Amino acid sequence: MIYRPVKAYINLPSLGHNLRLIKKLAPRSKILAVIKANGYGHDICRVAQHLSEADGFAVASIDEALLLRQKGFLHRILLLEGLFSAAELSQVIQNRLDLVIHSQHQLEWLLEHRHDAVINVWIKIDTGMHRLGFHPDAVQSVVQSLLQSSNAYQINLMSHLAVADEQQEQFKQFTHRQIQSFEAHTSNWNFSRSLANSAGILHYPETHFDWVRPGILLYGAGMPKKCIYDFKPVMRLESQVIALKWVQEGEFIGYGNRWQASKDTYIGVIAVGYGDGYPRHAKDGTPVLVNGHRVPMIGRVSMDMITVDLSHFVDEVSIGDRAILWGDEQLSVDEVAEWSDTIGYELLTGITQRVPFIEV
Ligand code: PLP
Repeated sequence: MIYRPVKAYINLPSLGHNLRLIKKLAPRSKILAVIKANGYGHDICRVAQHLSEADGFAVASIDEALLLRQKGFLHRILLLEGLFSAAELSQVIQNRLDLVIHSQHQLEWLLEHRHDAVINVWIKIDTGMHRLGFHPDAVQSVVQSLLQSSNAYQINLMSHLAVADEQQEQFKQFTHRQIQSFEAHTSNWNFSRSLANSAGILHYPETHFDWVRPGILLYGAGMPKKCIYDFKPVMRLESQVIALKWVQEGEFIGYGNRWQASKDTYIGVIAVGYGDGYPRHAKDGTPVLVNGHRVPMIGRVSMDMITVDLSHFVDEVSIGDRAILWGDEQLSVDEVAEWSDTIGYELLTGITQRVPFIEV
């Protein structure tokens, strides 16, 4: 029994719904479902189960991949950052994992390790993000080294988009340059190719290639504000009203006296705070749904509580009433994230261990 009212309701069937929508958007591509960071904070094993129609999974480490293998998933599993050390190669082979290689040192680890099994290698090309990946001009020689090795490799080519979710013209141009560079440096071969993340899937059909790699869209977040597609949020974070009170004009609320009442104000206290993963930097005005009413959060977020202004709903809210923090059709995680100058990804992956997950 968990007595604290903060709960993350996880609507697992929505994962399948979102996956099928992505299939419709990229009908000719296979889908590598990105389920790293514990399935974007939704519990990697449960997520994988509900995304089992995907053609493969992408994770950030062997630990996540092994967890999936132990649970019996036979899908292709891609390690998005590849190897952190050469010692991991035996696990890659034993567990038939797909491997990104993004740098010369990883290529050397790979070539130096004698093996009989065919390894699925994804050569990552840096088309402009400048985080991971080989310079486009180096791709030819990386391919040659793999082909000439006495080890057996199946080669795939990939890159990652940096700003495909941004609508301003300069970012669109940047994305087009990334696409052109990818096309120019990969079209000579007959290898499988992958470029699109969620934003690529939504906004740039020409990035779909053979494999798309959706992450955030699977969890029903990261859509533009006026999205015409019916992606459904998977996580709904909820709690309850635990105190109600009037404060008089001129009084302060919460730590740091950040908020001062400009008139008599009816305050609701909700049991959720940064100790649960609610963002401490949420600004005054961050929307919360209390009993279906959209009300502004006011004052600093504490470890276990937030305060909201209920002055417009004095007779309509009682102790124990439901408060939705995000994940409702009227209140997306992205909107809440914006009020804290962050992104939905951070909020979803930041739910802390004390918050129970309830499947709905
Ligand atoms: N591909 C790579 C290489 C990634 O690192 C990520 C996520 O960070 C994704 C795909 C999925 O991105 P998104 O969640 O924006 O769809």
